[in-house]
Amino acid sequence: MVENYGQSSSLILRGRVITMEEDGQVEAVLIEGGRIAGVGSFEKLQERTRGEPKILDLRGRTILPGFIDSHTHLIGMGLEEIRLDLSGTQSLAAALEMVSERVKGSAPDEVIIAVNWDESLWKEKRAPTKEELNRIAPKNPLVLRRICGHQAVANVKALALIGKGWKRVDRERGILLEDVCLNLDDVFPPSRDQLLSALKAAIKRAHREGVTSVQDMAKPSHLRAYQRLRQRGELKIRAYINLPFAEGERLSELRLETGFGDEQLRLGGLKIFADGSIGAKTAALFSPYRGGKIKGLFLHSQKSLTEIVRRGEEWNHQLLVHAIGDRAIHQVLKAYEKGITSSNPLRHRIEHFELAREEDMEKARRLGILLSMQPNFIGNWSKPGGMYEDHLPRWRENNQFGLIREKGLRIALGSDCMPLSPLYGLRSVVDAPFPQQRMTIADALRMYTWEPAYFSFEEGIKGSIKEGKLADLVVLSQDNFEEGLEGARVDLTIWGGEIVYRR
Ligand SMILES: [Zn+2]
Repeated sequence: MVENYGQSSSLILRGRVITMEEDGQVEAVLIEGGRIAGVGSFEKLQERTRGEPKILDLRGRTILPGFIDSHTHLIGMGLEEIRLDLSGTQSLAAALEMVSERVKGSAPDEVIIAVNWDESLWKEKRAPTKEELNRIAPKNPLVLRRICGHQAVANVKALALIGKGWKRVDRERGILLEDVCLNLDDVFPPSRDQLLSALKAAIKRAHREGVTSVQDMAKPSHLRAYQRLRQRGELKIRAYINLPFAEGERLSELRLETGFGDEQLRLGGLKIFADGSIGAKTAALFSPYRGGKIKGLFLHSQKSLTEIVRRGEEWNHQLLVHAIGDRAIHQVLKAYEKGITSSNPLRHRIEHFELAREEDMEKARRLGILLSMQPNFIGNWSKPGGMYEDHLPRWRENNQFGLIREKGLRIALGSDCMPLSPLYGLRSVVDAPFPQQRMTIADALRMYTWEPAYFSFEEGIKGSIKEGKLADLVVLSQDNFEEGLEGARVDLTIWGGEIVYRR
């Protein structure tokens, strides 16, 4: 629901306002013209207001700065959201019927991807066949991806679009496995309209979760969607757009540097991968994964990583280096140590930092490297019997937020869209299984508001509730967090002074 109380008029929110500033907690916040016009006692703000302000009494509920997600894949998530979801179907016949309806409503040649089928829940107890898909979609490329994400069936039209370079494509039977299934956006690049719909769906989702700003890991093709939506006045999220490092050369030729843009849409830094993931056993480790000799892989040599850092510095671009395994983190810090200006004015970051060793935490602090980390990973994989235990001998030493925080490093929290939900991440880290992972609610909230604003050089305009800053706010259902965050819900999201979500 979107509400307007008019640009010129005023809105006062009354509740438990946690400002993230020195005043700590106040009673009310005044919004005028999309900005915070005052913070303090309700009476005082009412006196100060011209005319009749609209008053929203939240009866003690908590008002925070809007969440800033420091690591998203917004359009990728949006594309997933707009895909036809087959998860609720009880038979193959019913699923094919649903897909057939979607095909009838599509333009010829439009690629249709449906997801989340699970033959074990179907009466027929079998996967769809290429022939069945050919029959219901004679004119459209059609792919049905299984719920696991690693297996799919394609019709003949879709198979014709899959380049020879992709492995594990059974063209005879239309069966796709692994990489090709996991990268459907690369195999079948979405149309401009699909990118736009995806971005819209993603923003809607972000509002539901209380997110008012994102630091997005985008592709150049995504930029058009952001700009279109902005022209239409529908980009009701602030995006700090990080592009692949490979674009750095072009950007520097144009003299475009990190920070170019404005409060709504801004060029961020350059993203680069140092290693893979723990799930795929490609994150680079010092000691092997459980039950074997595999130690993961480096995507760059030490020399080339050092060169990358040098380039980032030369181009005036913040670097966001994906490093997950302890060995990759070690390698990246070595490169930073050689290449960065002291005190790190470009605010270079490491993304994930999942398995850092203590000596490297200390090195990161010495160098002033910022850490963009995902508390969701604790919730997803860190429980006993979870993926970390399955893959790693020293599995308890993952995502050590508490320890890292204790050592005085700067951390911003993000979701990596797994899933996009600050509250899920906050709960995961506050109730983490191991003490060295755990943080207080107050610290964690700060790392989803103030800290990410600092990571994008925007601490002057957002990240706290302060006069003059942007009126991006989130209202949580609870009045205190003594019982933890278990029952907390997002009740209201305000972006630029406008209510963009109400539960
Ligand atoms: Zn990511």
